[in-house]
Amino acid sequence: MAKLLTTIAALRDYLNTYRSSPHDLLKQSGIALVPTMGALHIGHLSLIDRARIENTCVVLSIFVNPLQFGENEDLEKYPRTLDSDLQICQNAGVDVVFAPHALEMGVTNRSITQVIPPSEMISGLCARSRSGHFQGVATIVTKLFNIVQPSRAYFGNKDGQQLAVIRRLVQDLNLPVEIIGCPTVREPSGLAYSSRNQYLSKKDCQIAAHIYQSLQQAQQLFHKFNNLSLPSAKADCTPEKIIATAADYLANRPEINLEYIELVEANTLQACTEITAKAELMLAIAARIGNTRLIDNILLSHNITPRKPIIAIDGPAGAGKSTVTKQVANKLGLLSLDTGAMYRSITLAAMREDVDLNDYEKVKVIAARSKIQLIPRIEAERPIQILLNGEDVTSEIRLPDVTANVSTIAAQPAVRDILVKQQQQIGQAGGVVMEGRDIGTHVFPDAEIKIFLTASASERAKRRQADLIAQGQVAPDLDVLERDIQERDRKDSTRDHAPLIQAEDATLVNTDGLTIEEVVAAIVDLYEAKVQNP
Ligand code: AMP
Repeated sequence: MAKLLTTIAALRDYLNTYRSSPHDLLKQSGIALVPTMGALHIGHLSLIDRARIENTCVVLSIFVNPLQFGENEDLEKYPRTLDSDLQICQNAGVDVVFAPHALEMGVTNRSITQVIPPSEMISGLCARSRSGHFQGVATIVTKLFNIVQPSRAYFGNKDGQQLAVIRRLVQDLNLPVEIIGCPTVREPSGLAYSSRNQYLSKKDCQIAAHIYQSLQQAQQLFHKFNNLSLPSAKADCTPEKIIATAADYLANRPEINLEYIELVEANTLQACTEITAKAELMLAIAARIGNTRLIDNILLSHNITPRKPIIAIDGPAGAGKSTVTKQVANKLGLLSLDTGAMYRSITLAAMREDVDLNDYEKVKVIAARSKIQLIPRIEAERPIQILLNGEDVTSEIRLPDVTANVSTIAAQPAVRDILVKQQQQIGQAGGVVMEGRDIGTHVFPDAEIKIFLTASASERAKRRQADLIAQGQVAPDLDVLERDIQERDRKDSTRDHAPLIQAEDATLVNTDGLTIEEVVAAIVDLYEAKVQNP
């Protein structure tokens, strides 16, 4: 249950108890702080998710900080939605919501000690129109760091100037906290999620999506001139041209009232005067639609390479996914990834600790601290090696009692969230064939090729029996196996969270009566037609 605390004393008390608990986990992981102003949305959730994977305790602060609002800004009007925020935090696995009053934070007036970031970082971008804003942010964030003393603090790239200022603050004041910058989460239109989007009408939201599109236009130009070794390309890729591309795009949209477009070095925020191969740049925009001020940015770097294609192979147990996945990956020179092995590993870890597998809280803690590594073998025909906290569990996770329990574990939202994030991280560069139950629908909905591999329950029971016999295990009768398979299908396809369903754009392959070679050849053909020779 997410605990709501409103005083510094209560929060310190809670954290002191937490820190002095003999719980071994604390030493390995730590306390996360996610500072917010509330009115939580999917962007905030992405910070919470990441914080939960990397820490054992997540503190989320909700504080609409008066110090960072100018006189004519929307401090009074800023959305305050504590009840629904608490519900969101509860569902997302936040441990403590710290929501103090301005009086408790000692910031009801400006005559307090304040933290002033270097002037060169707060003279451009948003600081031009929001005088005192970053001083207010730096002051409140320093106070929160002192109150919570987190191991890590999570901020969005969306507020790129804020993130750079906070990184510098931590460096300059030697604050013992790791700053984690998280990617901007967007609506399907490209509009970045923001609490201030609540001020926009449906039509305004459509207009606002052009802000990101203008950034993408500029990004395309940046990548076109990727080959900086050619002098002509270098001459064409100038900061002025990149800025002009976005500005020209927005010039055709008079409803968008542009405040600035600036191209700066992402860490120092200094104006970019020349594009170099090592440049880590941020193209940032602020604009108004009606009275609503929106900001967005895009990072431009030659180190960010476009991701390679992904093949998602989903389907029920026993349809032949593992073998097919491995062989497709070998044929195409891609990495194969069996996500089922990750759920099996958490199941094994929970069984070893003898916890009730339906105790979601305990299982979540086990999932969060389990380190799973998937190591491909040099010999293509051998199964990928699975390490659980450094121990080889490749065979043990295939034992019948793990198989019998894996659906119970895989149905738990917290476990899925933790593993899906890890799968997305493993696959973020692409070049993988990933098999599972929700790869094409949930983990990589943008996969280039999606296959839904299935077979009748009787066919799958026969294959399972043959597998068990080949592994030297006792094989149950076919009708027992078939019933088990049907029960597992039922659980997988009816669970509330990420059920096993065929993605709308997946190709259905029923493997009844087909050889492995035929299935593999069909998928390779599809890949070649779609990706290699589109
Ligand atoms: P706010 O509540 O607006 O102060 O935001 C709290 C944190 O959430 C900040 O670190 C923001 O950068 C981050 N954030 C806000 N919107 C998004 C988004 N769309 N994607 C990722 N992070 C975000």
